[in-house]
Amino acid sequence: MVKLSIGIDIGGTNTAIGVVNQDGKILIEDSIPTPPKKLNSNAAQQVSDNLLNDFITEISKTIKSIRTKINFDYEIVGIGIGAPNANYNEGTIEYPPNLPFAGKVAFCEILSAELPDIPLIHITNDANAAALGEKIYGGARNMDNFVMFTLGTGIGSGIYYHGNVVYGVDGFAGECGHNTIIVDGRLCGCGGRGHLEAYCSAPGMKRTAFELLLRDHAEDSLLSAYSYKEMTAKHIYDAAMQGDKIALEVFEMTGKYFGMALATTVHHFSPEAIFLFGGPVAAGDLIIKPIKEGLEKHLLTIFRKRDIPVLISELDPGHAAILGASALVWNT
Ligand SMILES: [Zn+2]
Repeated sequence: MVKLSIGIDIGGTNTAIGVVNQDGKILIEDSIPTPPKKLNSNAAQQVSDNLLNDFITEISKTIKSIRTKINFDYEIVGIGIGAPNANYNEGTIEYPPNLPFAGKVAFCEILSAELPDIPLIHITNDANAAALGEKIYGGARNMDNFVMFTLGTGIGSGIYYHGNVVYGVDGFAGECGHNTIIVDGRLCGCGGRGHLEAYCSAPGMKRTAFELLLRDHAEDSLLSAYSYKEMTAKHIYDAAMQGDKIALEVFEMTGKYFGMALATTVHHFSPEAIFLFGGPVAAGDLIIKPIKEGLEKHLLTIFRKRDIPVLISELDPGHAAILGASALVWNT
């Protein structure tokens, strides 16, 4: 009998659900809308409960429908879920900033009641899930100690240490994206100041671009054509590829900051390698080179004796979230 896992990625707009085999092949996938967060919905417990129950019923229906399409003997070993503010230890989602659920919701327990024949259901945040995906299906298959960073709208990280993801005493460990790199620096999406995410996420790169445009009064930069709302990390990349000085400096600074933050992570965990995933990483050496230089510059001498590879994730970018979530099932 073929063993299969179900991976669920709960995003701000859509929730993707896929059936995955042990080799990391997605056999079938589908998606449903994630209920949108409305203003003040946090205050309304009843609204939250109704949306949550409807959402979980929809997930359950989709899984049942997907299962009817599998035309060979199989066994579903479990379900893995990647979601914002997910607590692995308790199977809960807690105070999610972009989901309409109030307080702490027992997501795994409610889904399990809908799907009683599924033997195990685990949940964690998407960066921890991505780290597991890298371990089970990607470039970290032969590693027991590594750290994964996901760069996009925010910066997430998952720490894989001696055979398991580090969840910490409360289930939330591995938030290196919110390490402070500049005292009283830029406001971060989490409400804190000076965090790595505020500098090296895609929106952080845009903020750097505007700071540099102002600093140099750089009207001749290709980036000066964009309004703050319009500019994306892709515009910065395109301008850098055309030799735009401001855009090139954005990558230099982003890499420098990120490398400095990676040095702290290496000091804490001394990983075999660091994996990077996400849009900004697609810029290749434009960002990887300054990251490596920043890392080298800030490392303690004892860690310079060996090469600490900074590697690009081997997970398929389009499917990494489902794969990562599904990997939760195989790692238990
Ligand atoms: Zn933060």
